[in-house]
Amino acid sequence: MFRKILATLCLACVAAGAVAVELELDGQLTQGALIRGQTAPGNQVLLNGEPVKVTEQGLFAIGFGRDAALEHELEIVPEDGQPLMRKLKLSPRDYEIQRVEGVPQRTVTPDESSLARIREEAAQVRQARATDSARTDFTGDFIWPVGGRISGVYGSQRFYNGEPRTPHYGIDVARPAGTPVVAPAGGVVTLAHPDMFYSGGTLLIDHGFGVSSTFLHLSEILVEEGQEVSQGENVARVGATGRATGPHLDWRINWYGERLDPVTVAPPIVDGHAPGPNAEQE
Ligand SMILES: [Zn+2]
Repeated sequence: MFRKILATLCLACVAAGAVAVELELDGQLTQGALIRGQTAPGNQVLLNGEPVKVTEQGLFAIGFGRDAALEHELEIVPEDGQPLMRKLKLSPRDYEIQRVEGVPQRTVTPDESSLARIREEAAQVRQARATDSARTDFTGDFIWPVGGRISGVYGSQRFYNGEPRTPHYGIDVARPAGTPVVAPAGGVVTLAHPDMFYSGGTLLIDHGFGVSSTFLHLSEILVEEGQEVSQGENVARVGATGRATGPHLDWRINWYGERLDPVTVAPPIVDGHAPGPNAEQE
């Protein structure tokens, strides 16, 4: 962590009155970003006036959604001394328009009975994302869960069979069905569902402090709810289940209810390819 320190925000020690308030931020100040921070142990952190959970070592995470406001206030409150107030200015993102043709029409205009199922499944995912554990896996470097060609990016406005639907909140890596998917960071499995209406085989891994990963369209899930996983461990296999036109992994990162862009924490994409494991395996 902290290998990509932001020049404008690396405030190793910012004098605030007589007391030095420590704050380092690691991440990209853009919409959709997951940002990891460090302050001195014992300091409180507030984002736009709301308390942020901080580890005993002073580490924390904050996230900004697809359409987040461009200005935020981060306040660091030491046990004694003056608080430090930083204005965070996010750069706006320009999202693509993506047209997906050939998905089953029943997944574009679901019938009444499917709508009930969709609501029930959405509630299960929401509950898993709301997990607020004390794990600190989120503080480490993430790896790609699978390597390969990027076939869909975060934030795109999506049209399915010509009809506008909610934006795409994941990053898609096209790989043959059956390709192993590994845990991008350690954590605990909070949801393992073999076949959701939209997302097919769906897996959620909690990385602690509100940070979690979601994996969609899986053909097989190799772990169980409650199971602890290590970074790099095989957890699932690529598939084309749910609303998908071909086999790919859709990887998402969440900070509580905010859906974030995994690209803001993963190793950089090279020539349109994710540098991850099993990229060549057929
Ligand atoms: Zn996707």
